Order: sequence, then C-alpha cells, then structure tokens
Amino acid sequence: METKRFIILLLLSHLVLFYSIFDVYFTSPINHGMPVYRSTQTPRAKRLVLFVADGLRSDKLFQQLNNTPYLNSIIQNRTSLSGISHTRVPTESRPGHVAIISGFYEDISAVTRGWKENPVEFDSIFNRSTYAFGFGSPDIVPMFKRGQSYEHFYIECYHSDNEEFGNDRAHELDLWVERKFEKFLLNNTLKNELNKDKIIFFFHLLGIDTNGHSYKPWSDVYMKNIHIVDGITQRLENLIENYYKHDQKTTYVFTSDHGMTDWGSHGAGDDTETLTPLLVWGSGIRSSHHTDVHIEQADLCPLMSYFLGLDYSINSVGRLPIDYLLPVDEDLLQAYLQNARQLLEQVHKQYDLLKKRLLFFKPYNLNEEKFFERMEKVEGYMNLYQIRDDIKDFMRHVALASHYYHTYRRFLLSILITIGFLTSICTTLYQLNPMRSLSSSIALLCKIVSILIFILLLIEQSPWTHLLYPTLVCIHTWISANFAMNWIHQKVFNQIKYFSFWLNIFMIGIFLQTYILPFFHRWTMSIGVFLLFIDAIRRWQG
Ligand SMILES: [Zn+2]
Repeated sequence: METKRFIILLLLSHLVLFYSIFDVYFTSPINHGMPVYRSTQTPRAKRLVLFVADGLRSDKLFQQLNNTPYLNSIIQNRTSLSGISHTRVPTESRPGHVAIISGFYEDISAVTRGWKENPVEFDSIFNRSTYAFGFGSPDIVPMFKRGQSYEHFYIECYHSDNEEFGNDRAHELDLWVERKFEKFLLNNTLKNELNKDKIIFFFHLLGIDTNGHSYKPWSDVYMKNIHIVDGITQRLENLIENYYKHDQKTTYVFTSDHGMTDWGSHGAGDDTETLTPLLVWGSGIRSSHHTDVHIEQADLCPLMSYFLGLDYSINSVGRLPIDYLLPVDEDLLQAYLQNARQLLEQVHKQYDLLKKRLLFFKPYNLNEEKFFERMEKVEGYMNLYQIRDDIKDFMRHVALASHYYHTYRRFLLSILITIGFLTSICTTLYQLNPMRSLSSSIALLCKIVSILIFILLLIEQSPWTHLLYPTLVCIHTWISANFAMNWIHQKVFNQIKYFSFWLNIFMIGIFLQTYILPFFHRWTMSIGVFLLFIDAIRRWQG
C-alpha cells in the first residue's frame, strides 16, 4: 500500500478505536416515557425538609457527637433513623445530589462533560412534588430545574463569586441560607404554595465542603462549621415548626452528598469519601428507631417519595429501604410493590427498545407474571414479612435484568473492537514487511464472517457508530488476512515445539501484566521506576 494511504487508514482506525470507549462503555442508562406509579395513597407527611451538608464525612459527625448537640439529641431522644448512606464513585457534588433527589447513580456518559452536568434530562422528587423550595449554591440547586418544564420550583441562590475556596468564612454560605429562608417565610408571598400537601424544602449547605477543601477535615475550621450547621438545622426546624404551628406533619432528612479524604479531596471510592451520614426524623418516622442504618444513597429517593405519597421518580433505581420502616403493614407492602412496578417499567422500556431492532434476541427471564399472580392472590405466605422478602427478591432480579439489557450488545461490540485492534496491527506488520502471502481458506472465512456481522448490525438498525467496528474489521481483514494466516503458520505452528517460543509468550504476558498491575497496586509502579534507575546508572557508566 502507498505510505500516505496507509498512514491515513491507520490514523482513522485509531480514531475509531479511541471513540469506541465512549460509544460502548460510557452509555446513558436513562430512558423516557415510562408510566408513573404512586407510592402510597396514605402518606406519612405533608411536607419534607431535606438538608444536604455538602462534603460532610460520616465519622466526623457520629464520632464527635458532642460537637453537634442538636443532631445528637435527635439520635438519642427522638424516634429517628440514623446511620450511613453509601454513595458511589464519582463522589462529586452533582452525582451525589442526583442520587439523593433523582435516585440514580452517575450517568456515566457524563464523563464526556467532565462530570459537570447531566447530558440527559431526568425525573426527580422535586418534579413529582406539588411545590419545591430550594436554597443554596448556584451550582447545585438550579440543576434540578434546568431544562425541565415544571414551574413549581422556587429557588434562591447566592452569587457564585461568594463561593470562593480558601475563604475561612465559608460557613457564611450556610448562614446565608438560613437568613434567606427566614426572610422568605416572613414575607409569606407564596402562602398558598406553602400550605399545599406534598411540598419539599431543600437546604444546600456548602460551607463544610469549602472548608474541608481549604483546611482539611481534621481541622478545627471543619469541625466548627459542622457545629454551625447543627445550629442552623435546629433553627430552620424551629422556623418551619412555628410556621406550621407544630402540626406534626413534617419529615426531616439530613445527609450529605459525599465525604472527604484527610487531604481535603473527594471523587474517588475511599471510605472517607463514600460514607455519608444519614438522619431522618419527624412525622415520617412514627415508630421505628434505628441507630445503625445502612442504605444506598439512591434509596433515599423512593424513601422521600413514600413519606410524601409522591409518584416514584421514573428514572430512579432506588429501592425503598423497607427494613427500617415500621410497622410492616399492607399499606407499606403496597408502596413497596409499587416501587417494584416502577423499577420494572424501566426494564420493560429497555426490552422494548432492544426487541424492536434486534434480529436475535434472548430476553431475561424474570417470571414476572408468576410474581404478580402470587402478589394478587397472597396465598402461601406465612406472614407479611415473607411477602416483603418475596418483593425484595423480585427487585433484585429486576436490577439484574436492567443491567443485562443495558449491556446487551456490549459483548459483541467489545469482541469486534478487539479484533479491529488486532487486525490493524496485522495491517501495520504487513505494510512494514510486505511478503507475498498465499491465499488461505481460513482467511477467506474471516473475510466473509466480518461482512456478515456488518450486515447483521445494519439490519438491526444499530446506531451508525456501531457499524464502524465491523467496517474496521472488514477493511483490515481484507488487506491483511492472508498475511496474518501465513504469519501465524510460520511464527506459531512451526515454532510451537521450541522452548524459546513459550518463553517469549510468557515474557509478553508478564510485560502486559505490568501495565495492569499499577491500577490495583500502586506500589508496583516503583519497580518500574527502580528498573529505570538501574538502566540509567548502567548507561551512565557505560
Ligand atoms: Zn459536594
């Protein structure tokens, strides 16, 4: 092949291979157009208050409770749930808030936007409420309004200039939220909205995060900010209770979006980053008192929906943390079952989308007809707890089915991309060493198969980018398949009986491992650095 054409071909091949990561792996799990399910007809509360203390680490709260007398008094003296909410990577503010308020984990396709915004629109408890009131950072609060058609969201944010990191008065941001809310209640301009059912107050308190970045979580400044947030929580609760004349119809949820390492960073999966505190009290928690709660962050979304009797958010993958809710009665189980239905709708949507276009399609066997039959008859159960466990088990399978459909074509595409990579190497070798090759029947077979796969993906109406991979394989197979077969024949089959051949294979294996090992054991990198050092000395002396 002409050198110029060869370079262009190879460049294009590499672009396709690079793009494939985003196309195949970083795909959005979010679908639209699913029907909604009401959580319950008999909600436990009329309104819900959500405090998010940004960047608050769970151990800094729970291990030093004398620093937070008010939250401590709730844990000790009132019926409440307290414990850990487990977040997932990336432990950043936006994904954390999306998990809490919308019930799904990072839309991994957001990597192309630096985790800064969601590429796809999504549902949230704010969207499902009759009215929501948000106070806090301009980076977080308006996020749930952007691009949404609903108008029932009142927002007050400070200017982003005030957020400056390194300012040791970051707790002013939290006090700002308190002041603004107090003024807002005094003005009483949205009186009608404030007296509706199913409303949500959202207080985003950024100070702890800012101080954690600047002064680190072991600092006095960080701890002092937690103390200030404790006071703010108490005063905000008092404001709300006074406004509603202590009607006992308000649920309070206190949590954080992510933790923080001792170095003042977050984003990764260390325990200090993923373990966040959770505290729930008020009218939603009637009779259960748990101090060792462990829930997944996204489970907060259906939990809050249930307290208010909202429709479950359609994109949520959260499951009602039913083990911590008492009493286990028919109403609670009904809400749990509705949660299962809502999760199942997403799987149905995934199924429909695949079924419509795939030629050969093996559905996931959920046995849902049998499950709902059992639920309808409610026969053969000893008690309500058995029904609960049956629903729980079904939800687990729904989650597996969802993953199965989401990654359905990933295997075939990964194979194609790997082959595309290998065949492009063959083309390069062929270009460097253009020996005359005999045509072989196996090479012909490879060529035909690559074309058949291309046709299959074409008929399946795959996204056009998915057609790039079989195209890549086709082109390179047609160029270098004969060469590759000859090469394999000479270099592999003729050498297989020699020890040096196996030694080479072994060394290549070790060599490849050294690339992968540092991902899991960082210290192995120092071996490489040490070898470089030895090599440098050798060269210097030589
Ligand atoms: Zn944050």
